[in-house]
Amino acid sequence: MITLLERAKLFKGKTALVSNGKSYTYEQLLTSSKYIAANLLHGERDLNEARITFLVPPSFEYTTLQWGIWAAGGIAVPLCELHPLPSIQYVMEDTKADIVIAHNDFVDFLKPLEKTLGISVLPLETFLKENHAELPEVDSARRAMILYTSGTTSKPKGVVTSHANIEAQITTLVTAWEWQQDDYILNVLPMHHVHGIINVMSCALWCGACCEFLPIFDAHKVWEVIKSGRLTLFMAVPTIYFKLISYWDDASSDDRQLLSNAASKLRLMVSGSAALPVSVMEKWRSITHQTLLERYGMTEIGMGLSNSYLGERRPGHVGLPLPSVEIRLVDANNNPVGENEPGEFQFKGPSVFMEYWQNPEATQKAFTDDGWFITGDIGLLNNGLYKILGRDSVDIIKSGGYKISALEIEDALRKHEGIKDCAVVGLPDLEWGEVVSACLVTDLDILDTRKISEWLKGYLPPYKIPRNYILRKELPRNVLGKVTKNELKKMF
Ligand code: ATP
Ligand code: MG
Repeated sequence: MITLLERAKLFKGKTALVSNGKSYTYEQLLTSSKYIAANLLHGERDLNEARITFLVPPSFEYTTLQWGIWAAGGIAVPLCELHPLPSIQYVMEDTKADIVIAHNDFVDFLKPLEKTLGISVLPLETFLKENHAELPEVDSARRAMILYTSGTTSKPKGVVTSHANIEAQITTLVTAWEWQQDDYILNVLPMHHVHGIINVMSCALWCGACCEFLPIFDAHKVWEVIKSGRLTLFMAVPTIYFKLISYWDDASSDDRQLLSNAASKLRLMVSGSAALPVSVMEKWRSITHQTLLERYGMTEIGMGLSNSYLGERRPGHVGLPLPSVEIRLVDANNNPVGENEPGEFQFKGPSVFMEYWQNPEATQKAFTDDGWFITGDIGLLNNGLYKILGRDSVDIIKSGGYKISALEIEDALRKHEGIKDCAVVGLPDLEWGEVVSACLVTDLDILDTRKISEWLKGYLPPYKIPRNYILRKELPRNVLGKVTKNELKKMF
């Protein structure tokens, strides 16, 4: 049984989704999903284990297709319409897609792959027409979805989750953040990642709440929706808050007042997917009176750590384990580290994924012998709350015997007036192993980096001061707004 779909029957007449200016009830969502399932199953095709990749922008049609695939017993593999063709080809090849479905606007875009991959791209329209079929019993242990990781550290990996995993990822957030039937959330995120799919859309649909789609992020449109007063919740990545702040900065003082008032009325605003700079959190609080709740998660585990809904939300920290998530911080020999000592995060629990798609070797390497998932993220427990120091591979700079957190240096640099944004990496060095190197985003034509280093000494010990600087108008980022640090390293 797929509980998410079963629960929708409880909320039939309520509005489930708002998309392209139209509202859709839970009943419409269920009916449409059943038609899709019947069309997918035509000729009693068995879809157990079938990978159905689809390119549909965030919308009612996206959701109903995903649910239709699930109702028919298949594995949903959402693609991102913002990705270039080679990235999409990579996912299709890696999953060995059995069926490829595209929104009408994207059929031509995918056409070149038909020959290369020997597939046919089927238009979404053909699956939406009324059709009926007996739907299979779907066990909650069945594979439900393959999501690709962001590819921040290496090639994106296909993460397989079961219906039970998805349910656990949803329910832990519903409990911790007190989702209610009368909640209303705006989705501004791409729908091929846990953030948009689970945290925003599925949590809303689990509770009978409403999710409105904005197909693509636009600061003006987001502020318009916030001003309308219909939102109770908002969730985004740090770059989006950064852009909303820039928009606010440029607004007239009357408008600023309106924006600030409207934003202050939401019951919860969440940030995650990348470290939330303390400066962004503070600025957001000063303009909206909202203390952003920062949380930490991964494609492989859903959400793992979260600041408290009712209690303390400490800047630069990601809080405590979510309900039914087990966590440990360990050293290189998998022995627990003490309070305030850096260690690697490992997780266990029902939300942890099944496997990397057709990659038993990677799956085996990702778990300890006693079943803990190894994240590759380093952090520590500081005064009762966890803090992320960064990824072992790119954010932890090993220099002259020290292990230095790039995130700490970035937070210090952002305190400088002339620096709009920044990213810090370690570059290989014969003498030091790695040297701290910073890319600064600035509007200024010249920035005296020697002066920056001098000024930084007020915040950081000498061994953490960058040795190399480059100046850029923006940082290289992927579609989720994460800085792609391996690309950045090549820019030095
Ligand atoms: P890949 O695994 O392909 O290298 P990725 O790890 O970026 O890509 P995701 O699963 O989308 O792919 O991202 C999870 C990672 O995002 C975490 O492992 C962590 O490094 C980072 N992350 C998520 N939330 C936070 C946060 N609040 N603070 C710092 N880092 C975070
Ligand atoms: Mg990862």
